[in-house]
Amino acid sequence: MQVRKEIQVAGIVQGVGFRPYVHRLATDRNLGGTISNTSAGVTIEIQGPPDLVEDFVSRLPEEAPALAQITNVLVREMPCKPDRCFEILPSHTGQHASALISPDVAVCEDCLRELFDPQDPRYLYPFINCTNCGPRFTIVRDVPYDRLRTSMSAFPMCDECRAEYDDPQNRRFHAQPNACWECGPQLELWNAQGRALKAPDPIEAAVERLRLGEILAVKGLGGFHFAIDAVNPAAVERLRQRKRRVEKPFAVMVRDLEAASRFCEIDSDARRLLSSRQRPIVLLPKAKDTAIAETVAPNQRDLGLFLPYAPLHHLLFAAGEFTALVMTSGNLSEEPIAIDNREAVERLGGIADFFLVHDREILLRCDDSVVRLSAGRLRQIRRSRGYVPAPLRLHKELPQILAVGGELKNTICLTRRNLAFLSQHIGDLENIESFDFFCDAVRHLSRILEIEPEVIAHDLHPDYLSTKWALTQKGVRLVGVQHHHAHIAACMAENRIDGRVIGLALDGTGYGTDGQIWGGEALIAGYASFERAAHFAYVPLPGGAAAIREPWRMAVSHLARAFGEDFLGLDIPFLQKLERGKAEFILRMMAQRVSSPLTSSCGRLFDAVAALIGIRQEVSYEAQAAIELEMSARSSSETAGYPLAIRRQEGHWQIDPSPLFGAIVEDLGRRVCTETISRRFHNGLVETLARVACLLRQESSLNQICLSGGTFNNLLVFEHLSRKLESDGFEVFTHSEVPAGDGGLSLGQALVAAHSAPTETQMSHTRKACDAT
Ligand SMILES: [Zn+2]
Ligand SMILES: [Zn+2]
Ligand SMILES: [Zn+2]
Repeated sequence: MQVRKEIQVAGIVQGVGFRPYVHRLATDRNLGGTISNTSAGVTIEIQGPPDLVEDFVSRLPEEAPALAQITNVLVREMPCKPDRCFEILPSHTGQHASALISPDVAVCEDCLRELFDPQDPRYLYPFINCTNCGPRFTIVRDVPYDRLRTSMSAFPMCDECRAEYDDPQNRRFHAQPNACWECGPQLELWNAQGRALKAPDPIEAAVERLRLGEILAVKGLGGFHFAIDAVNPAAVERLRQRKRRVEKPFAVMVRDLEAASRFCEIDSDARRLLSSRQRPIVLLPKAKDTAIAETVAPNQRDLGLFLPYAPLHHLLFAAGEFTALVMTSGNLSEEPIAIDNREAVERLGGIADFFLVHDREILLRCDDSVVRLSAGRLRQIRRSRGYVPAPLRLHKELPQILAVGGELKNTICLTRRNLAFLSQHIGDLENIESFDFFCDAVRHLSRILEIEPEVIAHDLHPDYLSTKWALTQKGVRLVGVQHHHAHIAACMAENRIDGRVIGLALDGTGYGTDGQIWGGEALIAGYASFERAAHFAYVPLPGGAAAIREPWRMAVSHLARAFGEDFLGLDIPFLQKLERGKAEFILRMMAQRVSSPLTSSCGRLFDAVAALIGIRQEVSYEAQAAIELEMSARSSSETAGYPLAIRRQEGHWQIDPSPLFGAIVEDLGRRVCTETISRRFHNGLVETLARVACLLRQESSLNQICLSGGTFNNLLVFEHLSRKLESDGFEVFTHSEVPAGDGGLSLGQALVAAHSAPTETQMSHTRKACDAT
């Protein structure tokens, strides 16, 4: 007896070797039928004896190729047909709305073996790839995904490549970037002026100059990197000076896991993550006494390590016998990473000594992803290459929405049915280059994901470039979303929660509904609305952005609030070192309310404490003071915590840190060490937040709590608070796949917008708020 079934498979199943896989699965069992790419993914018809068909259906998702991501399988009976063998049918073009594009993937083991096999036709070919690996997202111009619509269209395949491409049994069947020495992209070595150097082997030549300590700009998958030898302090120093990057840590690419274990403490989870096909930068605790130059990540407990992912990286390591190379984004300070050869020479020529370029175009830049582990669980810090544009599955279907994110660490988010597509890291929208990238990303992603948004969600901050852009868009419904509401909604969305939760949203800056700068917020929130149930007491942010760059200003602000102006008479090292005139200037500024907006920021509280106890007075990158304060606290095993007051005021709870400053000043007087003070601060904060959570549970009867916002990148706060809340019986939710910081905002904005009622007042209200500036 024969049966025939139709199986519709949705998800990332095109361009990942799915059809040859299904072909093998069917022919191994002597089953007949067909497979074709369709709008939703692929459609399979399979025919044969019932037990074999059953076996085929059950194995289909289990043994799928590594890159396939199946989101749905639909099986239905159908009448038998006369076909005996299994056939791959030509693709249906035209309708393809649900097919998904794979992220870029690290070179696979099979290709690596061929890369270093002298007998292989692709021996040492820097662009080797197959259906299981290689570039995808960054070379796609349009959909459906095939060679003509990628930047590989400039390279017609040679006969050998074409034969592999057409053979369903071959590992390169329909591998769109398939190429070889004969027909594919090639490398060139350029000098700093962009003139090609005569080098028979550009890699050998590049390696020689890297060994001399020169700075190489190398074009990778998602953009350029600056590469230098990580064990050469002089090279690190030169890169820091030229890139004008004083202290912000550099990421280090290591030759292999063995090398990684020499530089950092790595366990089995870290090994797995480092060697995953996404090949993210993983933040790992530094090992003691390593050969890596200290200036690579000064004053850091962690070092960002990653393994080679493009064949070109493997070739550099092999030719140069390096163990570790600094590989940092090819950009000037906070501008986007360069992707085009000529653009790179123009923008990076003053930094790089030479350029290793190739002629395969990168169509959309994509930075390296940055992740870390907390108790064995992934935490995304910068979700980009390797993860994007794989979608996140939502708890229900949404209309087509574009959410434009915040200002710092901007990402955008597009939704279609029950899927949310978070963009790669776009960066800080503070310069025209980043804003151009933002516009490119909106255009490009809407096109390749075929989403025409009916709704655009944006932050409430009227001065954000993303907000301003949203407000110029016509024919769509606009929804302004409060920053911390978006954080909590992102956490709910990632965990597929519906209903209402207690949300702790802690970060540096977010525009509040009262026009003040929020940042230490406890909300009772659902997607549709929220109530601000508790927050840190307001203090002035003297000088606005200057107070973010100079944490000592926040110390003055908090001391003035805790002690009144008398604080200037306190006998503490902070005041002995601070010029009296500077302190008085800040006090005047605050008293006259000049450039001193009010803030409930948790991030600025960390800044104030870090400055007060002498850890850092000025920062050269975001969150530097808080990171160093955490590091200091980690070297103490102190269990006591400082007190913070919680009081009822105007219908909600206010968390007042003043008592904490009193206690710190006392400890400073007793010469308690910095590490102990840092730890007591962390402990006190965690205890207070847990108490607030319990108060809100009593009031609301809610037991689910979401933790979101950049402060939760501080693992000491995050891990201790989660444990404390769990032991208090809370159901604790947090982030894993989506950044807790502002990189996750756009997801939350999309969810809030999806649940907002389309009222005219809301539209005009947001417009007015933004027109006002
Ligand atoms: Zn491969
Ligand atoms: Zn070829
Ligand atoms: Zn935020």
